[in-house]
Amino acid sequence: MVSVNNRDFLFTPIENYIISSEKVAHVQIGNNAEHALLVLTKTGYSALPVLDSKYHLKGLLGIGMITDSILGLEHIEYERLGDLKVDEIMQTDIPTVKTTDRFQKGLDLLINHTFLCVTEEDGTFAGILTRRVILKEFKKYIYSAQ
Ligand code: AMP
Repeated sequence: MVSVNNRDFLFTPIENYIISSEKVAHVQIGNNAEHALLVLTKTGYSALPVLDSKYHLKGLLGIGMITDSILGLEHIEYERLGDLKVDEIMQTDIPTVKTTDRFQKGLDLLINHTFLCVTEEDGTFAGILTRRVILKEFKKYIYSAQ
């Protein structure tokens, strides 16, 4: 185990810490908002990656974005959920990291995000890096220094 005095772990590649794509719940471009809301509610996750048919990362979709998109003047227009596509309401300007980026980059970005999407060099979705996993790693390093 590396001690905190040895900062080598900061330079290890992010791919060592990711939850790989096959274990990550996602929605696809073309899915409707009703489907996305179902997946978000059933999984209990705050947001999901949006992928295209070639498994390229296109954006992120959270429950807040869905409710915002169906807010009418006087009530929430649930009946519109089936017509809205996820790509019309997803967030596209999201921070991403590559599998080859360093732990330190993930650490810096995860201060403001609960998780980050991770891609291969060609934009293919590789998985996610969560604040929980990074904190666990940090804990290991700190305890190993005692
Ligand atoms: P956690 O680290 O479990 O607290 O997860 C933080 C956030 O990361 C969740 O709210 C989700 O948005 C996302 N997340 C974590 N694990 C998964 C997963 N297996 N599939 C999809 N999203 C996930």
